[in-house]
Amino acid sequence: MNSNQEWKSRKDAATPRGVGVMCNFYAERAENAELWDIEGKRYIDFASGIAVLNTGHRHPKIVEAIKKQLDHFTHTAYQIVPYSSYVELAERINQLAPGKHTKKTAFFTTGAEAVENAIKIARSATKRPGVVAFSGAFHGRTSMGMALTGKVDPYKIGFGPFPGEVYHAPFPSAVHGMSVEAALSALHTLFKTDIEPSKIAAIIIEPIQGEGGFCVTPVAFMQALRTICDQHGILLIADEIQTGFARTGKMFAMEHFGVVPDLMTIAKSLAGGMPLSGVVGRAEIMDAPNPGGLGGTYAGNALAVASALAVLDIIADEKLVERANVMGQRLTRQLNDTMKDAKVNDRVSEVRGLGSMIAIEFKHPVTGVPDPEFTKKVQAYALDKGLLLLTCGVYGNVIRFLFPLTITDAVMTEALAILDAALRVN
Ligand code: PMP
Repeated sequence: MNSNQEWKSRKDAATPRGVGVMCNFYAERAENAELWDIEGKRYIDFASGIAVLNTGHRHPKIVEAIKKQLDHFTHTAYQIVPYSSYVELAERINQLAPGKHTKKTAFFTTGAEAVENAIKIARSATKRPGVVAFSGAFHGRTSMGMALTGKVDPYKIGFGPFPGEVYHAPFPSAVHGMSVEAALSALHTLFKTDIEPSKIAAIIIEPIQGEGGFCVTPVAFMQALRTICDQHGILLIADEIQTGFARTGKMFAMEHFGVVPDLMTIAKSLAGGMPLSGVVGRAEIMDAPNPGGLGGTYAGNALAVASALAVLDIIADEKLVERANVMGQRLTRQLNDTMKDAKVNDRVSEVRGLGSMIAIEFKHPVTGVPDPEFTKKVQAYALDKGLLLLTCGVYGNVIRFLFPLTITDAVMTEALAILDAALRVN
């Protein structure tokens, strides 16, 4: 039995619908930016397993690193029998993360777990309960992750009550009618109406909202947040889970803002397809929780750590930070070219992003309201032609591009031709 249809029937019977599945085909193998299903159909992968594969599928150096580790050991539980690779990875992350201060890093397994732990560390260090997040934010599917997330459908529906002392402020986005001034004013109102700043442990923000629609935080807002945090002893947490590891044309997106966060969450492309996440931050803050307060059975798994060390080598060796800028520009040029067609242009409210973290947002050509139906049409057309695209945005009216930064020029050319045609669908 190896048809997509048969596996879909078995999946529907065996697994809950809550684990929503986008594609109706099943993966057989993948290589760099290409993926083949069990019926032999080839796809160009502009999803990268949701921003995990900045270094592509099965990069030879990653495969080699994992195989080598496999021959030594797979798991000891770092907190029981430690291994040097964890320490080495922490040293390298401490070096790479923004800011010249002394840093420490702890590893976990999923992005949501990194977020949970960043909040635990912030509360432990400040001895304060409150946390502020933003509308449109996504921080994961655990209880605290959901509480921090600023998008109800599908992430929060039916799952409350959520942990307390979490507050939301509006995210500034000009195209969505929220100026930096209005967003800052709302934050100050929150300090008056909901919680005094001296009770806030942390403000958590994605430098570019991922699931929320690739909305780039305005530099002035990020800088204002840093000032507010400094004034009130609040920690600034940058959630770099989707933005990190060269995607935005910098190693970390915070480098675009001239702002150093106190804590940063990392995951996804950190380990090139292996489950690994982390929290990196000021050494004295990271040291606040007592021994045993942080960790997890699989946290910092040895295979994943080996893979992450290879990822860091690949980003440096293949100059993926620079390549993210080059490939992002290629994509933007193509989008602008296609938008010379007035019919396409009328449907686009914005092309935005940094480096290769680019998205296109769609509106109805007449009413101007968000157009998730058209967005789905573009996605479906592209998928049919063999290009895997992801949507995002609070209204589901944004297509985000998350190709591996290692994609070859030839495969990129092919993908852009499909995209050009997809944007012209009716
Ligand atoms: N934070 C951000 C910014 C994310 O994009 C995601 C995942 N999309 C998460 C947290 C949660 O990560 P995970 O799915 O690995 O738990």
